[in-house]
This record gives sequence, C-alpha cells and structure tokens, in this order.
Amino acid sequence: MVARLDAARLKRDEALAQYTTFRIGGPADLFYDATSTDDLAGAVTAARETEVDYFVLGLGANILVGDKGFRGLVIRNTSHHLQFLEDGRLWVESGAIMAKLIPQAVERGWSGLEHYVGIPSTVGGAVWQNLHFLSPAPARERTMFIAEVFESAELLTERGKRQTVDRDYMQFGYDTSTLHKQRDVALAVTFRLEPGDKAVMHRIMQENLSWRGAKHPWLEYHPSAGSIFKKIEGVGAGRLIDEVGLKGFRHGDAQISHIHANIMVNLGKATAKDVRELIATAQEKVEKRFGYHLEPEIGFIGEF
Ligand SMILES: Cc1cc2nc3c(=O)[nH]c(=O)nc-3n(C[C@H](O)[C@H](O)[C@H](O)COP(=O)(O)OP(=O)(O)OC[C@H]3O[C@@H](n4cnc5c(N)ncnc54)[C@H](O)[C@@H]3O)c2cc1C
Repeated sequence: MVARLDAARLKRDEALAQYTTFRIGGPADLFYDATSTDDLAGAVTAARETEVDYFVLGLGANILVGDKGFRGLVIRNTSHHLQFLEDGRLWVESGAIMAKLIPQAVERGWSGLEHYVGIPSTVGGAVWQNLHFLSPAPARERTMFIAEVFESAELLTERGKRQTVDRDYMQFGYDTSTLHKQRDVALAVTFRLEPGDKAVMHRIMQENLSWRGAKHPWLEYHPSAGSIFKKIEGVGAGRLIDEVGLKGFRHGDAQISHIHANIMVNLGKATAKDVRELIATAQEKVEKRFGYHLEPEIGFIGEF
C-alpha cells in the first residue's frame, strides 16, 4: 500500500491533535494528504485493497481522536478544486473548506451556502452529516440543511466504483446521510445555488456570526468539537446538563463550557480520556435526575 502513495506526502507517526478542532489525539501510523479527487480515490482504494484500516479526515471538527492514535492510514482530504457554472451550479472537490467557499459564492451573487458561515467543515464533512444551522434572525427562524442545496455527488462507493448519485441516494436526515451507513467516500459535490442579493447575504452572515460569537465558546481560544451530544427534541441536551449544575465542571483540562453546556472545551492539555470522563459524568447525572440518555453526536476515532 505504502508503495502506491506519493512518498513525499506520506508521513509516519503523525500526531493527529493538530488536525482536529479539539486539539486532542495521538499519532496515526500513516498519514497522507490527498490533494485531488483522484488522489483521494487512489488512497482509499490502496488502503482497501491491502486491507489497511483507513479514516477519511476533513477538518476534524466532529471527532474525538483517542490518546493512543490510529492504527492504519489517516487520509486528510485537502482536495479543493472548484468550478462555478453559469446556471448557479457549483462543482467542488470534497476537501474544500466551507469558510473559504462561502465568500466566493457570495461575491458571485450565488445564495444558499451563506447560512453555514462560521461552522468549521469541509464539503465532505458537511455532506456526511447534513450540515445544519438554526438561523437566528426572526424572519428565517428555521433549521437550514446543506441537503437543500445539494444536487449530486461523485462518490467512491463501498464497492469501489466511482458513481454520481442524487439527493435520494444520500438519504439525508438530521445529523445523518447514507455515508453513516456505508463506507462510500464523497469525492466531489455539485450544489445548486440561487441568484441572491449580496447585501441580504452579508446581513445573514453577520447575524449568524454575531449569534455564534455570543452563544458559543470561541474556537480560537477554546478548542472543541462543537455540540457533544445529539439534540433531544424539545428539551435540549445543553439545558439538561446546565440544570444538573455541570457548567464549568472539569476532568483534567477538559471542561463543560461556561458559555454552552453541550460544548466541551480543551483548556490546554486535555486528553481524550478527560473528555470521555466528562461525557460519562454528564450522562450519569442527567440520566439519574431526568431519565434522558445523552447520546454523543461526535465520532470516536482510533484507540483510547
Ligand atoms: C465550534 C464548532 C461549531 C459547530 N457548529 C455546527 C453547526 O452549527 N451545525 C452543524 O451541523 N455542525 C456543527 N459543528 C460540527 C462540525 O462542524 C460538522 O460536523 C462538520 O460537518 C464536520 O466536518 P469536517 O470536515 O470537520 O469532518 P470531520 O470531523 O473531519 O469528519 C467527520 C466524519 O465525516 C467523515 N467524512 C469527512 N469527509 C468525508 C468524505 N469526503 N467522504 C465521506 N466521509 C467523510 C469522516 O470520515 C468522519 O466520519 C460544529 C463544530 C465545531 C467545532
């Protein structure tokens, strides 16, 4: 397998913490930067054919990597070529970062992606979990989903075929898509955008960023993986954690944020073990007091 990858981009024992927004995680035995769809497909195929465990990494914004790291190959997806088509379609490789993509769409007057400003994600990660955001402004108070602008995707299927699929195939739901159920890899995505008024889009972005800045701990100072637990309809996982008095509670350097109780932050040297202990404490206290089981939303990757 190693022989099939570009040696200059293949690293050994690469610490993974730096590639996650939590800044937590031990080393990957092998680590490869895939810079195009062909490269990504090639790396995944090489791992599959040689039966090496692999993990496709985006921005690492929805995962907790274990302290012992990952036995196998981590493929970091940095593919980011894109093409805006005249009719509002945008073809983009799946490693493109939403924060870089959104301003380009907005400046061209194409609307649909601006709602997701301020959320750390690659296009692949966004499709994997159907990226969403409850837009705060009174006029648009509903949850927006990336599925709404999704037209098609080129996948490397579980069976090893490159195939273009439509929205039905993706089975988008809340926090989920078909990529959760089978090991398809998103290589590139085509979004369908609408002509939009730049001033309106700028206002939406400003409102969303202001809301986020006020309600969430700032990632620059408090590394996190966003919400830890899945939403409990009509109740709110964060509210339950708050009500059992856990805001600010710590295990080592992992802390339940004072600002948002469903977000755990890394105060500097937090380990995956610290975070797992904090998760267990929150689950135990909430279950005992309210009878709700808090289910983690983040992925647990590698060895703990
Ligand atoms: C501060 C903060 C705020 C957040 N706010 C929100 C929010 O408002 N709304 C929201 O929905 N989420 C939010 N999140 C969660 C996170 O941003 C999303 O889950 C995001 O889509 C993760 O993308 P990623 O590229 O980082 O994926 P990663 O975390 O790198 O990977 C997540 C999963 O996706 C899989 N994956 C990645 N790329 C591909 C691909 N090309 N093909 C197949 N599988 C792939 C990975 O294998 C992994 O299983 C937030 C996170 C943080 C840290």
